[in-house]
Amino acid sequence: MEKERIVELRKKLDYYNHKYYVENSPEIEDYEFDMLLRELQELEAKHPEMFDPNSPTQRVGSDITTEFRSVEHKFPMLSLSNTYSLDELHEWIERIERETGEVEYVCELKFDGTAISLTYRDGALLRAVTRGDGTRGDDVTANVRTIGSVPLHLRGDDYPPYFEIRGEILMPYASFDRLNAERAAAGEPLLANPRNAAAGTLKQQASQVVARRGLDCTLYQLAGDDLPSHSHWDNMRKAREWGFKISDYMRICRNRSQIDEFIAYWDTERKRLPFPTDGVVIKVNRDEDRRKLGSTAKAPRWAVAYKFKAERAATRLLSVDFQVGRTGAVTPVANLEPVLLAGTIVKRATLHNAEQIAQLDIRVGDTVYVEKGGEIIPKITGVELSERPADSRKFEYITECPECGTPLVRYEGEAKHYCPNQSHCRPQILGRIEHFVSRRAMDIEGLGEETVELLWQNDMLHDIADIYSLRGERLATLPRLGEKSAANIMQSIDSSRKVPFARVLFALGIRFVGETTAKYLAAHFRSLDAVMAADREQLAEAEEVGTKIAQSIAEYFADEDNRRIVERLREAGLQFEIEERVLDSESLAGKSFVISGKFADRSRDEMKALVEAHGGRNLAAVSANVDYIVAGENMGPAKLQKAQKLGIAIITEQELMQMIGQAAPAVAAQTDSTDSEQTDDRSDRPVQGSLF
Ligand code: NAD
Repeated sequence: MEKERIVELRKKLDYYNHKYYVENSPEIEDYEFDMLLRELQELEAKHPEMFDPNSPTQRVGSDITTEFRSVEHKFPMLSLSNTYSLDELHEWIERIERETGEVEYVCELKFDGTAISLTYRDGALLRAVTRGDGTRGDDVTANVRTIGSVPLHLRGDDYPPYFEIRGEILMPYASFDRLNAERAAAGEPLLANPRNAAAGTLKQQASQVVARRGLDCTLYQLAGDDLPSHSHWDNMRKAREWGFKISDYMRICRNRSQIDEFIAYWDTERKRLPFPTDGVVIKVNRDEDRRKLGSTAKAPRWAVAYKFKAERAATRLLSVDFQVGRTGAVTPVANLEPVLLAGTIVKRATLHNAEQIAQLDIRVGDTVYVEKGGEIIPKITGVELSERPADSRKFEYITECPECGTPLVRYEGEAKHYCPNQSHCRPQILGRIEHFVSRRAMDIEGLGEETVELLWQNDMLHDIADIYSLRGERLATLPRLGEKSAANIMQSIDSSRKVPFARVLFALGIRFVGETTAKYLAAHFRSLDAVMAADREQLAEAEEVGTKIAQSIAEYFADEDNRRIVERLREAGLQFEIEERVLDSESLAGKSFVISGKFADRSRDEMKALVEAHGGRNLAAVSANVDYIVAGENMGPAKLQKAQKLGIAIITEQELMQMIGQAAPAVAAQTDSTDSEQTDDRSDRPVQGSLF
């Protein structure tokens, strides 16, 4: 029985690891994962004959993908053993002191992001690699270079000629909220929490996307052969002088009560920090003590993470409401008996979708557990089955739209139900109008939620094109409006006729077409007519447009109602074309390019601008329509392989410059030869685990 459970747990944990590290969309809470891992550890200890070096208890959960070049770590990059219990932490301290005598500890915050190793040579950033499987990681240098807090060149002159520094790439709450607001506006699924958002961003193929997402990087460990000191604390101070962002929240502790004090303080204070943390890391400070303690294959013995349990509260589920968004997506929302959670009263929580309700078997009347997912949106994470009322009935998900009664549909690959009645379902109509007038779209002032609803009730507004048929005199007769606000609204509507094409495209509210995608579409197709005439394959040639987005755009313009609205907007005088720029030359006319990798003298965006300025077209993906690939450093191996298969000409930055008649750059694009030296040179590998 226990042996079967071991096999089952290993399979389950491998699956959850993949969801978490590779797909960045975890299916269970960290605590639940840690408890399953703990169960496996205990069973494996009872059955040593079942030892398997590949068990999730023995290996670091791997984030390696095929999208990036993988690089071997000079020093293994390990995980941390963890505990949620102070008693266990005290046992760990006792064990340390039994083995080494009195030691100095450094207590630090445990940043909740994704681990990164940065290598510097002669004071310049050489490469950035993810933790991967602990031995090899993904080379994400081009993406990490876009993070403002990562120094590309160090200050001072007393850094070792070659060293690594490790830390965490984080997404601060402000960036996370902004990103999710943008995704909500584009009708895209929201990201679960800042950790997954940070890890997912780091694995983006386009560095300019990474640059916009507002990542941060805090460093917490030096690794190298000739570090300034044998004390971790002193090394961190030095690293700060060299220009690294080192945590301000560290303390030297000499005994258990100082450690307890640090934990108790941060358990509450961390909620005020602008970035996510999930615990405290306690590390032995001095190298000689660390060496004595050593490491397992998975984690050092000289450090431990004390993890804060996500705050959770139990309360009763009173009823479930269903909200219909502007894209028709239906979201179930739980009405709860009010309960205090992490300092606020929670009355409502998201239930995500039908599948989640079924998976947790949540029923009205149940006592449920509520947590703040990613510390932000409250969500229901479980049911207390022992308190389930005897007469409770399985929850039946709705089959019709709660607003208009239309049967709901489910699109392939999507967990949510949708109301397909786009043209006549109230929240969808109002939602689309509100989106259209919003600041980042057409920026029409005076048409807030209430006014839009009022105009709709008065039969003056049925779709976005009606906005341009509104008349000031009629508006002024409506309650709460008056002449002055009516005049302001009319003025603002008039100004919106000058809003650039990219924002008009965003304002249409096509599912998955957010601000950024709209910008890329506008730059690529230059006019709405061209977007409308493009088939799915052609649409997917624009940067950031994958098959899912292409399909959504094609479906939008295939709809008769939408086409009629678009024609009325055209008549109203909106910008349906990108403002034409005068080209520098036509030397690249009719040619399509993919710019890939990192270049010696220009950023990728600058290279693309050059292509456009000389009449060429930039495409995002390698396909048979591409004439040239301009390959820089770190071009993804998958792209290269595909290009070679299709027989596409691969040229350098220098060759592109020659094509447009500009002088060759002083230094041609080059690949870094030290990478292979580094990868193969294992002669100076330290005793495994002396650092992580
Ligand atoms: P971890 O996140 O518990 O701890 C190790 C990591 O902590 C290091 O790699 C480093 O990136 C980070 N860290 C942050 N601040 C640090 C500091 N000051 N000093 C040193 N390190 C610091 O371990 P892990 O191996 O990255 O991840 C395992 C954990 O991830 C599990 O315990 C679980 O909670 C979670 N997980 C969850 C799922 C899921 O499905 N929910 C799946 C897999 C893993």
